Amino acid sequence: MKQELLNRLQTAGKPVIISGAGMVGETVLGICKENGIAVAGFCDGSTRVEGSDFHGFRVIHTQRLKEHYRDALVLITVAAIKDVVDMLREEGFEDWIAAGPLLEDMDVGQMAPELDFHKFSIETCIVCHAGFLNPEKTFLRSVDLIITERCSLKCKDCSNLMQYYESPKNVELDLLFQSVDALCSALDEIMEMRVIGGDAFMNKQWPLVVEKLLGEPKIRRVVIYTNGAIVPKAEHAPLLRHPRVLTIVTDYGKLSSSMEKLTGYFSEHGIAHRILHVDSWLDCASLEKHGRSQEDNARVYQDCCAKNMLSLSDGKLFRCPFAANADRLSAVPDFQDDYVDVLAESPAAEDRDRIGRKIMDYALNKGTLEICDYCNGRPLSGKEVTPAVQTSEPLTYWKHPRNPIRALK
Ligand code: SF4
Ligand code: SF4
Repeated sequence: MKQELLNRLQTAGKPVIISGAGMVGETVLGICKENGIAVAGFCDGSTRVEGSDFHGFRVIHTQRLKEHYRDALVLITVAAIKDVVDMLREEGFEDWIAAGPLLEDMDVGQMAPELDFHKFSIETCIVCHAGFLNPEKTFLRSVDLIITERCSLKCKDCSNLMQYYESPKNVELDLLFQSVDALCSALDEIMEMRVIGGDAFMNKQWPLVVEKLLGEPKIRRVVIYTNGAIVPKAEHAPLLRHPRVLTIVTDYGKLSSSMEKLTGYFSEHGIAHRILHVDSWLDCASLEKHGRSQEDNARVYQDCCAKNMLSLSDGKLFRCPFAANADRLSAVPDFQDDYVDVLAESPAAEDRDRIGRKIMDYALNKGTLEICDYCNGRPLSGKEVTPAVQTSEPLTYWKHPRNPIRALK
């Protein structure tokens, strides 16, 4: 497979462009050079790297690739391959190669307790590309698992809609575990389960959730999201140090009030982590009905960079955290076609298969959501706002008269 791909790249007869100006892109560039493949350039879906220099190439935004190349063979190194393929198709590029198989013979063994982020990224790319290329396999790249509505901050433009919760609470643990069991029994593999809130550490039961996820062999990685305001107890360090766990901390400067202590805690206990710095946010957190036509709504969805951020909330699998939280807040009617109810089916094998196929159909083919009409959308080129501006009071919104609480089975 690898040799076949190399042959195809060597004889492409058109410019070879690497998609993804990151660690994996850099590794794949090295493989191309070793094998005499002339790379013409790099493209990336992020505006943050657009125009920057990457190994001597000026990075082109994927949505502007057409302005530079009429035709190209695009070598995708991004784990979120479906997003890239969708974007390339939009721009009229049908000729692409998933780079995962080129990386397969690399040593991605992980040196516990330290998680090498480069190896992590390469393994993620290999597994996600293999899953995407195998239509028989029910594989999801990543699922956001909402474990709390509570956050240590109250950002007025939070894209996960925390600023609207009047009495935020933790997700009920039994329901959460039932949801995870139902999802995992219906699928072959999930690359990454992302434990989110709000701030995941605001739910004191987060260690139980992480233990539960680590006990599920179909989940490869557990990624915990926090914002640098809370330092976990020392007794939980072994759990965070687990070789399948990664903690991602968003750094909001002074608002991340315990950042120094937290990074000290990570160093002291040898905990794999990554710190993200944010320069700008998209203006995508208002909750209002726009009344768009179906066509316009489909366009908003098409252009949205969050439409593949599958989110599990009380047994319902949504396309994005906005939709999941809008539903939790009853800010939208109960649009039953907008989610897959993973708890709706019995645990019998034939039902598990059916729900697995339904989830894959939803993940790969869903065209738009009714909920998108209540959202500004998240186009990569959208209006930006200052990140992490705080609100002292919850923001108001129109609540739909329905009961969002579901009964346990
Ligand atoms: S830190 Fe801000 S953006 Fe992050 S979840 Fe909390 S309220 Fe939302
Ligand atoms: S446009 Fe639709 S898919 Fe995108 S964030 Fe909004 S609700 Fe989610």
